[in-house]
Amino acid sequence: MFGSNVFNGRAMRECLSDEAYKSLMNSAKTGAKIDRRMADQVAAGMKAWAEERGVTHFTHWFQPLTGTTAEKHDSFFTIKSDGTAIELFDGDALIQQEPDASSFPNGGIRATFEARGYTAWDPSSPAFIMEAGSGKTLCIPTIFIAYNGESLDHKAPLLKSISALDKAAVDVCHYFDKNVTKVTATLGWEQEYFVIDETLANARPDLLMCGRTLLGHSPAKGQQLEDHYFGSIPERVFAFMQDFEQESYKLGIPLRTRHNEVAPGQFECAPIFEEVNIAVDHNTLLMDVMHKVAKRHKLKALMHEKPFAGVNGSGKHNNWSLATDTGVNLLAPGKTPRTNLMFLTFFVNTIKAVHDYADLMRGAIASANNDHRLGANEAPPAIISVYIGKYLTEVLDEIESRVKDKFSEQDEVILKLDIHKQIPELLMDNTDRNRTSPFAFTGNKFEFRAVGSSANCGSPMMVLNTIMAETLKRFKHDVDALIEKGEKKEIAILHILRQYISTSKKIRFEGDNYSEEWAEEAKRRGLSNFKTTPEALDAYVTDNAKDLFFGNNIFSKRELEARHEIMLEDYVKKVQIEARILGYIATNHVLPAAINYQNTLIENIRGLKEIGLESSAYKAQLNLASIISGHIQNINDNVEAMIEARKRANNTEDMHKRAHMYCHEVKAYFDKIRYHADKLELIVDDKLWPLPKYRELLFIK
Ligand code: ADP
Ligand code: MG
Repeated sequence: MFGSNVFNGRAMRECLSDEAYKSLMNSAKTGAKIDRRMADQVAAGMKAWAEERGVTHFTHWFQPLTGTTAEKHDSFFTIKSDGTAIELFDGDALIQQEPDASSFPNGGIRATFEARGYTAWDPSSPAFIMEAGSGKTLCIPTIFIAYNGESLDHKAPLLKSISALDKAAVDVCHYFDKNVTKVTATLGWEQEYFVIDETLANARPDLLMCGRTLLGHSPAKGQQLEDHYFGSIPERVFAFMQDFEQESYKLGIPLRTRHNEVAPGQFECAPIFEEVNIAVDHNTLLMDVMHKVAKRHKLKALMHEKPFAGVNGSGKHNNWSLATDTGVNLLAPGKTPRTNLMFLTFFVNTIKAVHDYADLMRGAIASANNDHRLGANEAPPAIISVYIGKYLTEVLDEIESRVKDKFSEQDEVILKLDIHKQIPELLMDNTDRNRTSPFAFTGNKFEFRAVGSSANCGSPMMVLNTIMAETLKRFKHDVDALIEKGEKKEIAILHILRQYISTSKKIRFEGDNYSEEWAEEAKRRGLSNFKTTPEALDAYVTDNAKDLFFGNNIFSKRELEARHEIMLEDYVKKVQIEARILGYIATNHVLPAAINYQNTLIENIRGLKEIGLESSAYKAQLNLASIISGHIQNINDNVEAMIEARKRANNTEDMHKRAHMYCHEVKAYFDKIRYHADKLELIVDDKLWPLPKYRELLFIK
């Protein structure tokens, strides 16, 4: 079943001529252009393969900056000049389409008179068949660009970063192994999510429209007993998991792991790692599949970073490494002193890259959703640091202290042997786990843990690839300079490694990232702590970031500025929608329920009075009625003030300013309103409460 809906190597072999097959394979491997005639052949093969499986339509499948995937389906069906029908899918349709792009965010790139956008085939990610009910659609993974080629999606810059990294890493590999001709970044994501009953979710406008609860008192029992993590998977959820796993297998997504997560109703799945472009496609595809399959089970899968206050939120750990075409994982310790030096080179360069571009790493994971999670004592903080564990800390210390300015060949040999002895061959089982670090080395890969659960991994991976490419280029430059001065290659490498270890020290942290002390210590070290998205996004437009992105051909100036604008706008829209929904449910759901209950109390007080009881007999009722009035007043005042704040923000032209206003002025009312609504939830008659409560959402399966 695995990959049965994927136009993979096997399907290509069956459906394509030798010539077309070779050309497509070559293009996927090297990025070489496919000529037009070949594209016709590939399209014909793809169509035959798809039609045999009942496919009637095709779509260019892409990942616009709105955070989801986009499709516009076209039928193979067309009319010939004589009016008769034919099914057609040619090279043109495969290579390029022009979706109506005006409704996708563009950050001002497309002037209104030039609203065209194009999708263009990415031959390095295989086409696949998406099934929805009885409909089957051939999906062609594509990039999405404006009419002048400027990128408007996640994939185009990711592909550029992959090739920049490939080139830089191969160059550095050649110090150790001339046989390496290609280096690919690998990604294994771990996807956390919540599952709740669909009917209950639909009764909550906040969950329906924002994907998270804006109100809701925490239940008497949350995750404090820690009984969910190791518990058995509830049957209904289990059936859902099996179902989406089956769908994923057909699509070639190699899911392997499933388990409960810490919060009640929270789960995780993870695949076997893949080449990063494919892995990103597979993650976005999986999220889509999960939403669809959940419906079949009358469940709702929530990918939001923080659907419920008071229990853990969801992240998406991005396990990242580098693999050569000679079969070596560059972040796994080697078997010999020489291969271990290669490992250390890539290892130290990664730390240096994160050190030099920590703010950009923070920017890459910034979103309105993720702001609720980062630094909330359950997820990595907004401070970027690197954890490497005890063994490797000792190894780096050793290099730092033993590599001297004057350094004989004898010293070098001994040092290399010593280091080799220090690195256990199976680091994976020897690295102590620090679960609080945003970027941790876990034996044979780095794990970027601060990525949000609903995020497209493309952006953080693009940033990681690019900063690594840049750092490796500089490394090569630095080492070559020493070699030119007459230094022996391996001594030159050790010298530069020592230098990088020293200069990137402040980014390394082995302690508890959730602690208050770390926030203070990080401040002393001069590390940034951008708590909110509008601040964090500024990292994209610093001089440092511009040099990086322009120098590695990832973004042009306009693309970068547009992207920054799009992300700010996305932030504004998300907070704006939440503010509207919050105002709406507070006013239309919570207040009427409170007033209803208050009326019951008033009625009761009146009756008790009427039958001649003393006021002591209705003291409690009076007190409750007055407390309710207080909350009602507070909610009303805060909602009004929030609406005013929104108006002020909306009237602010500058997107940067507007985002800051939404962040600090509009959002500031969320907690105030929630506080009073949640208090009312505890008082008001359960029968009258119009919203499903946390205990129902989290515990009914
Ligand atoms: P954990 O203890 O964090 O769960 P695992 O070894 O189970 O660690 O791996 C978690 C994820 O890391 C999986 O998705 C796996 O595919 C991925 N992974 C393992 N090796 C690599 C690698 N070389 N490159 C990228 N991802 C990897
Ligand atoms: Mg993990």
